[in-house]
Amino acid sequence: LDILKIAADLTEIVGSNHVKLNEPMAVHTSIKIGGPADIIVSPDNEDTLSKAYIYCLENKVPVFVMGNGTNLIVRDNGLRGVVIKIHNNFNSYKIIDDKIIAQAGILLSRLSKIALQNELSGMEFAEGIPGTLGGAVTMNAGAYNGEMSFVVQSIKYLDKTGKIKSLGNKELEFGKRSSFVQKDGGIVLEAEMQLKKADKHQVSEQMNQFAKMRKEKQPLELPSAGSVFKRPEGNYAGKLIEDCGLKGLKIGGAQVSEKHCGFIVNIEKATACDVIDLIAHIQKTVKDNYGVELQTEVKIIGE
Ligand SMILES: Cc1cc2nc3c(=O)[nH]c(=O)nc-3n(C[C@H](O)[C@H](O)[C@H](O)COP(=O)(O)OP(=O)(O)OC[C@H]3O[C@@H](n4cnc5c(N)ncnc54)[C@H](O)[C@@H]3O)c2cc1C
Repeated sequence: LDILKIAADLTEIVGSNHVKLNEPMAVHTSIKIGGPADIIVSPDNEDTLSKAYIYCLENKVPVFVMGNGTNLIVRDNGLRGVVIKIHNNFNSYKIIDDKIIAQAGILLSRLSKIALQNELSGMEFAEGIPGTLGGAVTMNAGAYNGEMSFVVQSIKYLDKTGKIKSLGNKELEFGKRSSFVQKDGGIVLEAEMQLKKADKHQVSEQMNQFAKMRKEKQPLELPSAGSVFKRPEGNYAGKLIEDCGLKGLKIGGAQVSEKHCGFIVNIEKATACDVIDLIAHIQKTVKDNYGVELQTEVKIIGE
């Protein structure tokens, strides 16, 4: 890869303020881990975003799309090629009756506040999920019996051939922390959420209750990537891990959270290697003790 040439070409497309070279991914992930990305671009509109994406596809430059980096473990040698970050620059939204239509970079926590202010119910579950709307659609993020698949009616989607399409709820093939977007690898540009008119106080109360539960149960004070594993059928990853006696176990700077065993926290300059070794150790121990194969929910990427 001729990184300087690619960076120069992308600068032409998105402007020099929106391109960074050799950028540590630790700065862009909630667990604060990850080697450098060759190039990270954060376009500020749909037009330059799709042009930059198409440029990468046409020139066979590896490209990874990210939102707020709250579900990512980037390996220590970083990412080759281009990272497209869809975040602060894609923040706008509008409300039409009981629908919210928003751009992919808006934070889910903000979206649930917007729903509350507009007396709309359906986004309460999302008040404490730290990702973007695009990341949440891709991951079918959820909590407390709610998930994106219940509210997303359609999305505006840039596919891998560079075409903009509308995909409906069925076409999104939502599954357990998965969706068509994950398989297909295109870009969520916008999503339309169908909500319900509701009493503001009830919505607010529900959100406060969820926030309280989260604060009590999750290690929000330490860097993490949220739940490391998907919930196994008929069980809880955190409980299985705790029952194996792994609570508080450390490898290097990574630790099985003392507060919630489904989380791995970065307590002291952990490397991606530490986290990945800890994940492998947990998977093996849980398999040996309970015959359950834990699958990762976090995305492990890079070299
Ligand atoms: C403290 C904490 C609590 C959490 N609690 C929850 C929870 O309760 N429930 C839950 O489901 N998750 C939870 N998470 C995990 C995470 O917040 C969600 O998975 C979230 O949806 C990820 O969004 P993101 O913008 O950070 O995506 P990223 O981590 O940046 O990316 C995640 C995936 O989405 C893809 N992606 C991101 N944006 C786009 C886009 N615009 N178009 C196409 N693909 C895209 C990426 O390629 C990647 O595969 C938690 C994380 C933390 C740190």
